[in-house]
Parts: sequence; C-alpha cells; structure tokens
Amino acid sequence: MRKRIFLIFLVALFLTPLKPARAQNPAGPIYIVQSGDSLYSIAARFSLTIDELLAANEGIDPNALAIGQQLIIPGLEGITGILDTQFINFGDSFRGLMRQTQVSESLFRKLNHLVSPSEFYVGANMIVPIQDQAQYNKRISPVTGESMLELAVKNSTNVWALRHINQLDGSWASLPGDTLYAEGEAENTNISGLPPAFINAEIRDLPIKQGGTGIITVNTLPDVTLGGLLVDHPLRFFPQEDGSQVALQGIHALLEPGVYPLRLDATLADGTMQSYEQLILIISGNYPDDPLLYVDPATIDSASTEPEQLELEALTAPASPTKLWSGTFISPAIAYAESTYFTSRYGNRRTYIGQGTDLSLDGFHSGLDFGGGDGLPITAPASGVVIFAGPWTVRGNATIIDHGWGVYSGFWHQSAFQVQVGQTVNQGDVIGLVGGTGRVTGAHLHWELWVNGIQVDPLDWLNQPYP
Ligand SMILES: [Zn+2]
Repeated sequence: MRKRIFLIFLVALFLTPLKPARAQNPAGPIYIVQSGDSLYSIAARFSLTIDELLAANEGIDPNALAIGQQLIIPGLEGITGILDTQFINFGDSFRGLMRQTQVSESLFRKLNHLVSPSEFYVGANMIVPIQDQAQYNKRISPVTGESMLELAVKNSTNVWALRHINQLDGSWASLPGDTLYAEGEAENTNISGLPPAFINAEIRDLPIKQGGTGIITVNTLPDVTLGGLLVDHPLRFFPQEDGSQVALQGIHALLEPGVYPLRLDATLADGTMQSYEQLILIISGNYPDDPLLYVDPATIDSASTEPEQLELEALTAPASPTKLWSGTFISPAIAYAESTYFTSRYGNRRTYIGQGTDLSLDGFHSGLDFGGGDGLPITAPASGVVIFAGPWTVRGNATIIDHGWGVYSGFWHQSAFQVQVGQTVNQGDVIGLVGGTGRVTGAHLHWELWVNGIQVDPLDWLNQPYP
C-alpha cells in the first residue's frame, strides 16, 4: 500500500515539470472598471468571491476602486485580452453580436451566464472579450430574394468570406431581415439590424421599471405608418417636429419583472409590412407594502367599484392626436405643498379591508397623494382639456384632464369642482379644491397619470420632460 502511494507520488513528481508554464499570462483577461462598479458587483458578475478577485490582483486597494482601473479576472482559462461591456440596444441580436465580435457562442454564454439566447435582451449589459481577431463592424442587411452572391458583390467581398464571418454553414440563401457582417468600418446609415423601412429606433431610459413610461422613438423612410406592441399593449405613434415618430407607453405596476417583447410594425405606402421584435427588460419598481387599510365596505364592493373602473378605463383609452403639454409637468399641489411632500407614493402594494366584514381587495396605489386639508387649491400639472368632472363612489369628486397623445391626469376626492367638461386649462390653473370624498381615510389630493391605458408613476413626469 505504502509502495503504491510512493509510486504515484514519484510519477507525479516526474510529470509536474512537463506541464506548460503559464508565466506569460498567469491569471486571465482584463476587466476595466466602469462607473457604478464595486468589487462586489464585479466578483458577482464573474461568479467569483471578493477574495478570489483580490488574490488575482495583488496590491490593489479594495477601498479605492477607480473607474478605468484594470483588474485581472481569474478562472477564465483560454480567454485573453480585454473584457468589454456592451449595452444591448434595440436592433442588436445575439447572433449579430457573435458575428460582429467573432466570439464563440459557448464562450459568450459562459461569460454572461446565459442559458439561452432569450436571455439576450434590450437594456442588458453584456461582457464581450475583445480579442486579437478582426472585428467586423460593417452591418449589411439582405433584402428579400437577394442571393449571397449579389450581397457579396454589393459589399465588395466574396461569398466565402461572408459565409465564414457569419457562420452560415451550408446555407447559400441569405435570410431576409437578417443582419450580416462584413469587413470594413461601420457605416453611418442604417447601422441597426432593423428591416430597411426603419432608419433607426431608440428606447430611452432603459431598463424600464414597473410603473415607468417607455419612450420609443423611430425614424423611418418617408410614407411609413408605424404600429407595434409593448408587452401586450398596442403602441400609438405620433409625428415629431424633427421628422421622427414617438410612442409613449405605461408599464403596469403589477407586471412581473422580466423580459417582454417589443414589436415594431412599419406599413409602407404600397401596403406591405415589415416587422421587428425583440425582448426588453422590465425591472421591479421596489414598491413597499402599505399597512392594511380599513374602509367603508361599499367602496370595495365590486358592484360599485367595477362600473366606475370601466368608466375610467373607457375615458382614458382614446389618444387625441394633438399634444397639449410641453416640457416637464408641475405638481398639482404646487400652490400649498412642497413639491416633495407626498403622504403616499405611487406603486405601494395595498390591501383594503371592508370595516366589520371579511371583504378585502388587493391592489396597488395608482397615484401620488399630497397632504393638506379641505379647500386647498388643486392646479393643472400641464395644459389640456377637461373630459370628466363628476361624483364617483370610490374616487369621490373626480376630474380628468386629457393632455393629448393618450396621456390623462385624474384628480380624486375633491371637495369642489372649479372646471367644466370641455374647458381648456393651462398649466398652473386652479381646477378644483382638496377634499375627503370617496374611499379615503382623510382629506387629501390623489393625482394619477394614465399613459396609453396604464397608470404610471407621476413622479417621473415631475422630474423629466416626456417624450
Ligand atoms: Zn391616493
């Protein structure tokens, strides 16, 4: 027994010096520290412990990580060079990125912990190794019926190079709408992977949170009508002065965080349609739970809540073609409250209990509540037209202003109305008085904002202009 152990030891001793030396590149590829990174986030990103990361980077001060600093990432055998971070935009595709960077799919998946290409979505940051190989930055997009040979001739290359770069094994036919890459520099025109009717498409402020407002701006060829879908809501596009078209879409506060489809449909003058669909990331709004709320049972009885809910949804469903607001919205409580004084924010998870009953209703807080007592003035947060002013069971004395483009403001629980249906109001005009009518525990102003059929966080609209 002892002899055998000795023998194995001896063999091991002889074999050890024969292993290739790893002195030239002992530890692994380089990651360049980005804004917002911490040692913890970098370690987590590469499935390392902080100790493993520190051990590979002797001499760095863990308390003074600087943007642009280079860190060696251990445990990635066979990978060299710089690990770059690439933000995934609308129009980028999984296969396209593989083709452009010439990184193998297995390596890319390993670096980004991807189980399937469906985890490649707009709004994500992906790690791409920048290796010695050439990058192929010239995007080309075959049109229907175009052969590989025609495509190669048009782009001053040959069929074999195109097949090799784009990993098209055994397929001689190009795929309409696909994005291929060729040698050469990126061209300024149509650098996206979108179909030819689109010049470009941009989604702002990614990733979008629950209760957020998506802003989708698209430039197309002339005479193109746009439509589309975000999650399951049909998009409505409106022309802007710079020639682009824009759609605003609210994301429901209770939508499960995850990836959802965004589809764009371009209808050309001859009636043909070109579509493009991609997954985009929707993140949690991190909304807290409110304490249980005890209310008059009648205000949570579906016999009284449902007709009112349906009436509100019907009132806020259309989209008037003219945008009546400009710039950033202002607080409707600006006349009496600090612009940061809210007694309850949007999105809070709520359970209403009917006093003296076992009736209950789960939901979320659909607007922003401002403190303040009976009779204080409520002002229009932006210009618009009054489309409703009347008493409701749950919402009390309610006024709704249409701002155009499917954007509506609702003001609930008022003690008095100061406007009539059909009246045009300007930003800052008094529209009503604070009260305690409807399903309330005290007098306050509840303001909510609807964007293409969905209640969104009004605070976003007080902090930045839309679109
Ligand atoms: Zn409220």
